[in-house]
Amino acid sequence: MIILLGAPGVGKGTQAKLIMGKYEIPQISTGDILRAEVQKSSPLGREAKIIMEKGELVPDNIILQIIEIRLKNPDCQNGFILDGFPRTIEQAIALDESKSSRKFQKKKVLEIGVPEEEIIKRLTNRRVCINCGKTFNLLFNGLSEATKCTNCGHVLIQRDDDKEEIIRNRLKVYRFQTEPLISYYRDRGSFYKIDGLESVENVFQDIQEILEKNGFPS
Ligand code: AMP
Repeated sequence: MIILLGAPGVGKGTQAKLIMGKYEIPQISTGDILRAEVQKSSPLGREAKIIMEKGELVPDNIILQIIEIRLKNPDCQNGFILDGFPRTIEQAIALDESKSSRKFQKKKVLEIGVPEEEIIKRLTNRRVCINCGKTFNLLFNGLSEATKCTNCGHVLIQRDDDKEEIIRNRLKVYRFQTEPLISYYRDRGSFYKIDGLESVENVFQDIQEILEKNGFPS
């Protein structure tokens, strides 16, 4: 089991997809699951939308139900990558105690670090495909606002929570509610810090080296 820790915008999703491709274990993004519920306008999605638009955290009990269901899926048998979960100490404790995760005693926790001003620059320039969810960045991909998705040709939009004021709140929420997880996991071993300012390729290279040096997959 791999846990990707780090503030919004450090590249957890991008790296999770690369890890998924290389080691053939699924990426589990609670943010993506919630956005799919918002899209469907399910009761959960309607409740989550209001919270997500403010950049606050969805209550632990809702997140834990989502995760319990997701981890029971057969594709999680050989491990998985958690992206955006856990985000509170309560979620981390629940994960430690959950039956579905207990067989993966050896967690690898990777914290990707990027300074806040760089995060704001990255997130205000992030665009996502309205159809397939692929993410792009106007800073790195040489794209313009008019660019269409290279995957499916649909338009790219800005996530509501990628507006600067909301980003600043998400970073505040991260500092207060999620950052304590760093010492939680550091105290429990198998915690590694990665410099997220490097290129996507170099960050992935660092991740692979750390994982393989420390006996992953096993
Ligand atoms: P993300 O795509 O990971 O940045 O998540 C987008 C939003 O979904 C967050 O700002 C939260 O409102 C909500 N969310 C995602 N994962 C969690 C979680 N583990 N706990 C609470 N809220 C979450």
